Amino acid sequence: MKVLKFGGTSVGSAARIKEVAKLICDGEQKIVVLSAMSGTTNSLVEIADYFYKNNASGALERINALEQKYEDVIEELYSKTSSKSDALELVKRHFDYLRTFSKAVFTIFEEKAILAQGELISTGMFQIYLEEQGESSVLLPALDYMRIDKNSEPDTAYIAENLAKQLEVNPGKTYYITQGYICRNFYGEIDNLQRGGSDYTASLVGAAIKADEIQIWTDIDGMHNNDPRFVEGTKPVPYLNFEEAAELAYFGAKILHPTCILPAKLNNIPVRLLNTMDSKAPGTLISSKSNKSGIEAVAAKDGITAIKIKSGRMLLAYGFLRKVFEIFESYQTPIDMVTTSEVGVSVTIDNTKNLKEIVDNLKKLGTVSVDENMVIICVVGDLQPENVGFQSKAVHALKDIPVRMISYGGSNYNVSFLINADDKKAALKALSASLFN
Ligand code: ADP
Ligand code: ASP
Ligand code: MG
Repeated sequence: MKVLKFGGTSVGSAARIKEVAKLICDGEQKIVVLSAMSGTTNSLVEIADYFYKNNASGALERINALEQKYEDVIEELYSKTSSKSDALELVKRHFDYLRTFSKAVFTIFEEKAILAQGELISTGMFQIYLEEQGESSVLLPALDYMRIDKNSEPDTAYIAENLAKQLEVNPGKTYYITQGYICRNFYGEIDNLQRGGSDYTASLVGAAIKADEIQIWTDIDGMHNNDPRFVEGTKPVPYLNFEEAAELAYFGAKILHPTCILPAKLNNIPVRLLNTMDSKAPGTLISSKSNKSGIEAVAAKDGITAIKIKSGRMLLAYGFLRKVFEIFESYQTPIDMVTTSEVGVSVTIDNTKNLKEIVDNLKKLGTVSVDENMVIICVVGDLQPENVGFQSKAVHALKDIPVRMISYGGSNYNVSFLINADDKKAALKALSASLFN
């Protein structure tokens, strides 16, 4: 069985929802993961923000405006009066629920319950549409099988067992529809897999059922060789291996959620990136196969902070790096890039929640300096040392840009550069010009 995931734009209007239904209804059994309609999760974030600020009237205004959008979609989407009234009832139920928060104490738990409504509505509406079309389909409630553990990691055994149960109690259906992004946490509360997490749902579902293929359908024809939001003339990359795709996703290629490749890779399930707007386009196939063709693509990760620790005590000493890393570990802050010299070490982080405490502790080890507002530019491909010349090409492309750190050798698949955020666009353009044109 295949797992197909459709993102927000793919289900962003009545016309798009009809297109998706046409695309999936080929008689082949499949699981379909849907995001919320585009813009909805952002609106829900805003609504939660109003509630946090105790501004119930602001929240109600946003809720009512969003509800109106759904009513318009319903008017256009369904042809039968009975489907329309089913969908209106569904939507009203979810919006009435949103309105109840104006009287409640508002915490992160309520916020997460609010954020879950987008996917609950889109899948409910889609199921009603498939029923209207006479298709054999059923909803699989993600909140009944998708779960994260105490460390916010997916509980893969639980997911596999409970998804299998869900499939068992709904035998013989052709299309299984489920919500992306949403899940329960260790305590049974409603939670989510972070923004953009529907891709992650698809790969977790794919891994749980040992799918033949995971397809991520979006609004572009596959992984492009550079970020199309910043560079013109980017092109789709036909093949990537799991490592290359994971590096690109982690380092900013928004088309994939950062962690979504891992479950597919662990189970050796190919991932295909496809375009809902141009379903015949070949897209990108991500698999375990290596393609010996040098540099494949470039991506950029924003919001990076660099921390440099200089210390005479590092000279000829052992255990210094351990002490540095332990400080980051104790504040549960992942490190992205590391570079060292005989007298100092530079690291980058993107989670600055505990920056002050981390810096205070690092000061016990040496002189500390912090640079905020940095970007990691990641050049990805088959970059083994034997493929001589690719680093010099990448370095040469950035000849006019101040580079704060360079990292290569952590894997055979990437070389990363740390630069100022202001130079990001120029750097991406320069790399495209010299690597791909
Ligand atoms: P969805 O809502 O379907 O999940 P996203 O907006 O999350 O879609 O991801 C698709 C978008 O990712 C594209 O519209 C594109 O602007 C952006 N993007 C960034 N980098 C890349 C890249 N290297 N290749 C393709 N798309 C990219
Ligand atoms: N709807 C969620 C978001 O906008 C999840 C997703 O689209 O992947 O972040
Ligand atoms: Mg996305």
